Amino acid sequence: MRLVRFADGNRDPLGVERDGRVNVVESPSMDDLIGPGRDGIAMLGPVRERAAVARAESSLSVEHLSLLSPIRRPGKIVAVGINYAAHAAEGGRPAPADPVLFAKFPTSVIGPGDDIVWDPALTSAVDYEAELAVVIGRTCRRVDESTALDYVLGYTCLNDVSARDLQFADKQFVRSKSLDTFCPIGPVLVTPDEIPDPQALRIRSYVNGELRQDASTADMIHGVAELIAFCSRAFTLESGDVIATGTPAGVGWYREPKALLHDGDEVVIEIEGIGRLVNRCREEPTAGAS
Ligand code: MG
Repeated sequence: MRLVRFADGNRDPLGVERDGRVNVVESPSMDDLIGPGRDGIAMLGPVRERAAVARAESSLSVEHLSLLSPIRRPGKIVAVGINYAAHAAEGGRPAPADPVLFAKFPTSVIGPGDDIVWDPALTSAVDYEAELAVVIGRTCRRVDESTALDYVLGYTCLNDVSARDLQFADKQFVRSKSLDTFCPIGPVLVTPDEIPDPQALRIRSYVNGELRQDASTADMIHGVAELIAFCSRAFTLESGDVIATGTPAGVGWYREPKALLHDGDEVVIEIEGIGRLVNRCREEPTAGAS
């Protein structure tokens, strides 16, 4: 199933998209599927049934909907650094033996079509990172790699937007990757029945239509199942948590010359079998700042 959330007045219903048409599921909502203690995976059956019933009535064109991030507010966003060998190499770093984890704060999440916004007085080195995002569907603690994928609610695109000047000044990642709007997610959450192998997806990014990253999730150093198992040995993953699985080579910072993001740029993250996550960049000086 291809799940979307969209704005409809004061509501944000769940929809099931197929061939460009969306069947609205009045209940449950995406928020009913996720959150501590919830089992979103068990609720996919009822969602599927209700979408099938809705099909008899009026469906909506996805083109005319204002899509939102499939996950409004993740409990946590666990990001993985340096998880593609070619990206490690472009940064002059060795491939890490174990996954390198860091956090992006949930307040950074925006949806498809929302602007990535920054204050040019705070950062002047904003970069894109195309990533496969894994959304957890039920409580996951100390699981083996062999069963780890049973905890996946679905997959979507994520842009791990990064302020490189802050990242290198801080010598760690949290501030530089948690600025408000620095975590676009979407446009669709695709359930695992439609993505049986998350390590076989082409992943690309474009800036103003120019191809910047082009790789396969097969190139991950630590695959999705290993990442889930690794995380779950350290901390509990809950329904609605997001794992950003790392970015391939081709980020702007390591290009020659550097190719960072600027006001007005359009960034697209595209993953095979999921779709295209499109956001525009906007520099917004803080009012009153000199
Ligand atoms: Mg990243």
